[in-house]
Amino acid sequence: MQVLLGQTSEQITTIAKQTGAPSFTAKQICEWIYKKGATDIMQMSNLPLKLREKLAESYTVGRTLYSKEVISADGTRKYLFEYSGGVLVEAVLIFDGNRVTLCISTQAGCKMNCAFCATGKMGFVRNLYANEILNIYSELNNRCREINSLLKIDNIVFMGMGEPLDNYQEVKTSLDILTARWGYALSPHRITVSTCGFLPKMKEFLDNTQTDVAVSLHNAIPSERKDIMPIEKAFPIEKVVELLRQYDWKKQRRLTFEYIVFNNLNDTARHINAIARLLNGLPCRINLIPFNTVPETLFVGADKDSMQQFAAKLKSKGFNTTIRQSKGADISAACGLLSTKERN
Ligand code: SF4
Repeated sequence: MQVLLGQTSEQITTIAKQTGAPSFTAKQICEWIYKKGATDIMQMSNLPLKLREKLAESYTVGRTLYSKEVISADGTRKYLFEYSGGVLVEAVLIFDGNRVTLCISTQAGCKMNCAFCATGKMGFVRNLYANEILNIYSELNNRCREINSLLKIDNIVFMGMGEPLDNYQEVKTSLDILTARWGYALSPHRITVSTCGFLPKMKEFLDNTQTDVAVSLHNAIPSERKDIMPIEKAFPIEKVVELLRQYDWKKQRRLTFEYIVFNNLNDTARHINAIARLLNGLPCRINLIPFNTVPETLFVGADKDSMQQFAAKLKSKGFNTTIRQSKGADISAACGLLSTKERN
């Protein structure tokens, strides 16, 4: 059986033609899948029954319900999805008043092996397909409405399990469908794609998408960054920033550098000067992230006061600096904690 979710309008047009349906049927199928959230072809009630039956011989919508929901004391909810081959991936809904942010995964596991990250520790299982990424959005958007009929997902951050640009094609298809008028019709500025600096696909990504971008920096001194982020050896952050400087970040598209502040590791004046040198004159925001203790690592996060001092020093150098409120740590849903290692 093939899956309709994750197919572009062009692909659905081809499918409709192959089924012998008139061309306007493709528009109706897209509406059922991406706007009305159909879970079964038989629900597509404005399509002739014969056509639905023919379609259902070879296709399913391809929706998969989450298999587990865990709720944090702060209201954050973590979800487990089980995909083909027993692959397990997690996603998180973060609530801020009536605003909901979905933290979505793009790979089961990750190859990048960042030293402070639980996903990195579990190794790489496989890439997610576009339909699996979109299924997370679709299912959890429904879940929001079940929780409260006024809620919907407002923002999506591609910051869950995996390096999105290491699964570029499927992530690009997901972004196309999330933002297309015939798809979920979300503004690209409600979506942030995070990367640790995966240079081979970065230009293609920047040229062909409009979403906001977050780069995991965590240390601006290359000889130290490589100790916590092995990607630095292959694709130095200086090269990444050189490429980013070729784009316009003053208008709608926003660029953020993520920086987990570790105690005595990347929080000194030397590190602030290195950040200032690296990002000098680049319109961007620096988002400081409190570290959540990850099993099997010896890292210690900076305390609240040190984070605030660090932020103040960056601000005094002219950088737009924020401190991220960490949520969901008690259910291992906070930044860097997603892992399905024990369950695989
Ligand atoms: S921080 Fe991101 S890129 Fe690094 S290992 Fe974890 S999931 Fe992969």
